Amino acid sequence: MTAAADLTPEAVRALLADTEPYLSCDECFARIDEYVERRVSDRGFRDDRLETHLAGCGVCAEEAAALEELLRG
Ligand SMILES: [Zn+2]
Repeated sequence: MTAAADLTPEAVRALLADTEPYLSCDECFARIDEYVERRVSDRGFRDDRLETHLAGCGVCAEEAAALEELLRG
């Protein structure tokens, strides 16, 4: 573990920048149906903001996985 005292201003800025494209869970849930439908019909479809949220949010990632399973039958 890195102690908070080891964080340089640059590291802090990098951390803050990483959270910028994050959607809230509400925004994620509002878009997740459409996102999964498009992913199922087009494997190349990307939504960076949504995927960033899914990568950091187990609840929404589980929702997306369940939806995808449903759509794929
Ligand atoms: Zn979420």
